[in-house]
Amino acid sequence: MSAVKGQIWFLTGSQNLYGPETLEQVADQSKLVMSQLADQLGAPAELVWKPVLKTPEMIREIMLEASRDDNCLGVITWMHTFSPAKMWINGLNALTKPLLHLHTQAGQSLPWSTLDMDFMNLNQAAHGDREYAHLVTRTGMARKIVVGHPTEKPVGERVTNWAFATIGWKTTQHLKVARFGDNMRFVAVTDGDKVAAQLKFGMSIEQLGVNTLVEAVDKVSDADAEALTAVYEREYDVAEELRVGGARHESLVYGAKIEIALRGILEAGGFQAFTSNFEDLGALRQLPGLAVQRLMAEGYGFGGEGDWKTSAMGAILKSMTPAGGGTSFMEDYTYHFGPGTPKILGAHMLEVCPTITSKKPRIEIHPLGIGGKEDPVRMVFTAEPAAGRVVCLVDIGDRFRIISNEIKIVEPTEDLPLLPVARAVWEPLPSLAESAEAWMLAGGSHHTVLTNAVSEETIEDYARIAGVELVQIDKDTNLRAFRKELQFSNTYYRFADSIG
Ligand code: MN
Repeated sequence: MSAVKGQIWFLTGSQNLYGPETLEQVADQSKLVMSQLADQLGAPAELVWKPVLKTPEMIREIMLEASRDDNCLGVITWMHTFSPAKMWINGLNALTKPLLHLHTQAGQSLPWSTLDMDFMNLNQAAHGDREYAHLVTRTGMARKIVVGHPTEKPVGERVTNWAFATIGWKTTQHLKVARFGDNMRFVAVTDGDKVAAQLKFGMSIEQLGVNTLVEAVDKVSDADAEALTAVYEREYDVAEELRVGGARHESLVYGAKIEIALRGILEAGGFQAFTSNFEDLGALRQLPGLAVQRLMAEGYGFGGEGDWKTSAMGAILKSMTPAGGGTSFMEDYTYHFGPGTPKILGAHMLEVCPTITSKKPRIEIHPLGIGGKEDPVRMVFTAEPAAGRVVCLVDIGDRFRIISNEIKIVEPTEDLPLLPVARAVWEPLPSLAESAEAWMLAGGSHHTVLTNAVSEETIEDYARIAGVELVQIDKDTNLRAFRKELQFSNTYYRFADSIG
C-alpha cells in the first residue's frame, strides 16, 4: 500500500447522563469498533480515535480542530449511545471536512438469553444514530451513511471507497494545474470557467508560457539527459535506433530533456497536473510524449490541447487509485461497429499512461503527422483487459458535471502493427450505441480519464463531497429514463442555485 495520505478521525457521540462507569464502557467499545474497522480499511489513511463526545462544547471544538487540521481527511461519527442531536448543531455547522456516519454497534449478535436492561442502556445506537441522522438531514450537509457491523466485509469496502474519495477531495483542494499555452483554437469542451473551478473545487489553474518550458529544456545538461536515457533502457524496451549509439539516439536525449525540464517546473511550482497544446509549442522541437507518459505514471494529471479539466480529473482520480491500479488520460478515437461486440479504440496522439498495462512498454519514434515538429519519442503499449470506467468533468455553463461510464477493457480484435501509439480498446456499457448516445446527451467530452481501479462508489462519494452533479452510464442505463434524469437534474440544480 502506498504511503498514508492523511487521517480520518473517529468520533463517538454520547452524553454525561450515563455516568462515568458506562461512559468508560462506551469508550472501550468505541476503540474496539474502530480497530475492527481499521483492520478492513483498504485505503492509505489512518483511523484516529478521539475521546467520547459528551457536550456541545466538546463537539464544536473537535469539529473546528478537524476542519483546520490539514492532515485530517474527514470524520466518521457514530452515536454509540443517545447523544441528543441539538448538541451537534454548532459542531456540524463548523465542520468543513467530509462526513461519514457509521451506523453500527459494538456487538454483532444480541446475547438473547442474558440480555437485560443494562445491555439495553449501553447499546442504543439503533435509536441514538437515528436522532443524529435526523439532525444531519436538517442541516442539508452531504454525508455518507454506512450501516452494519465493522467486521462485515461490505462495511469495510464502503468505508474504504469513501476514504479514497476524501483523499481525492484533499487533492482537489490543493490542486494546481499548469497550462503550457492556452486552449486549442475553437475547441469548446476543453475550455471553461477557471474562476468557477476554483470557487467550486479550490483548484488553481495557472498559465505558463510555452517558452518557460523551452528555456528550461535548453538548460538541461547533456549528461543529465544521457543519464535518464540509461534509465529508459533499463525500464523499457527501447527501439534499437534510439539506444546509445543508435542513429536517432539524439531524439531520445531531447525527450529526456523535456522530462527533466517539465518535472523541474512542476515541482518548483507545486503543480500536480498540467496541459500541453500541440498547436502552440514555440521553439520546442518535439511534442512532449514520453515525458508526459512518465509523469502521469508518477501521479501527475494531464490533458492535451489545454484541457485543464481532464488534467485536473486525472490528478484527482490518480490520487484515488488503489495501489496496483491504473489510471490514464484517454480520448475516444475511433469505432469498431462490428462484426462482434462494438468497441471503442481509445488513444491520444502520444499521451497515454503506462499504469494501465503491466507489460514492459516499448519506446519508439515515429512522425506525428500534424504540427510540423520533429518526430516525438513515445511509449507504445496496449491497455490490458479489465473492468473499469471512463470519467470526464465538463463545464455546462451554469455548473460542472462529472460523467462516468462503465467499460470493459478488452484485447484488440486483431493486432495493430501499424499503430505507433499506446492505446486501449473497450466495450462501453450498456452498449456502444446506448453509451455514446447517453454520453453525448449529457455533453460529455471526447477527452476522458480511464481507470481500471477507482470504483464507481468512490466516484459517487467524491461527487457528493464536492457537491458536483454526477451522471452515470452503466449496464442499467435506459435512454428514456436517462433523458428524464437530465431534465430533472437541470431543474434541481437551477432551483438549488436559486435558493443557495
Ligand atoms: Mn485530444
